[in-house]
Amino acid sequence: MGFLTQSRLMKAAFVAVLLAGVCGTAVAQNNPPAPKTTDLGSGIFVIFGAGGNIGVSTGPDGAFVIDDQYPNSAAANLAKIQELAGGAPRYLVNTHWHGDHAGGNEAFAKAGAMIFAHENVRKRLSGETKSIGFDGKQAAAAPEPAWPVITFTEGVDFHLNDENIRVFKVRASHTDGDSMIYFAEPDILHMGDVFFNGLFPVIDPGSGGSVEGYLAAMKDTLATVTDKTRIIPGHGDMATKADLQKQIAMLEGAIKAVQARIKAGDTLQQAIARKPLKPWASFGWSFISEDIFTTTLYNGLKK
Ligand SMILES: [Zn+2]
Repeated sequence: MGFLTQSRLMKAAFVAVLLAGVCGTAVAQNNPPAPKTTDLGSGIFVIFGAGGNIGVSTGPDGAFVIDDQYPNSAAANLAKIQELAGGAPRYLVNTHWHGDHAGGNEAFAKAGAMIFAHENVRKRLSGETKSIGFDGKQAAAAPEPAWPVITFTEGVDFHLNDENIRVFKVRASHTDGDSMIYFAEPDILHMGDVFFNGLFPVIDPGSGGSVEGYLAAMKDTLATVTDKTRIIPGHGDMATKADLQKQIAMLEGAIKAVQARIKAGDTLQQAIARKPLKPWASFGWSFISEDIFTTTLYNGLKK
């Protein structure tokens, strides 16, 4: 994550762009970083790059891909997938609708990918369900070629590349359309944005997400993974069950700290000024600072 070391000015520009991306509009980054891959074995790779982490299964049945980052990172990612899989993506699953995960949909569809997602992802990409960005404005719909063509309500299983791949919807948490993808035999789980490894998460109430749902979805997942499970988070480095436990501990502590400020009668500005998330300062990053995450929790917890 080279952007963490960039100047404050660069940071501000990056945040503005990323905010737009996370809010779902098809705003592209100016200079997306070149994709880097990690080989997980069994023909499965992770591509770390401009936005959310991309999962790729390769093999005789063609490339099965999880998420596709931004519109202007699509060409580099398609080239990388070609290199890894020897072909264009055949199947594409969106973990959710945000522009840093589904922003490449149009380019991937034009390259031949069949797009699968939970029905709420299609509803939000098509504008059938309105999404409100962090700027309070309604997000624009994506162009029609970017919409998933096959939708599900609970989940869907893929049997290809000698793998059993389970795609399943989780409770409303980051948004109301979050899915995770589990490769059964190699025991690899892509958690989408229900896990920002070592980073304060984005929780998006304007897309049906909630603080309580987010914590509950993480705990649901913790109950299903083992010490051997390798976890691909939506953002951040590859993770283990122990990393997930650390993230849950941070979120529980942060919720308590902000709840205490609400109970004490603080306004949002007063709560921010008291820096309640200081013990978890290391989770701050260019997009979600301590102050921004305090705001997320305060607004989400104040009834
Ligand atoms: Zn997201």
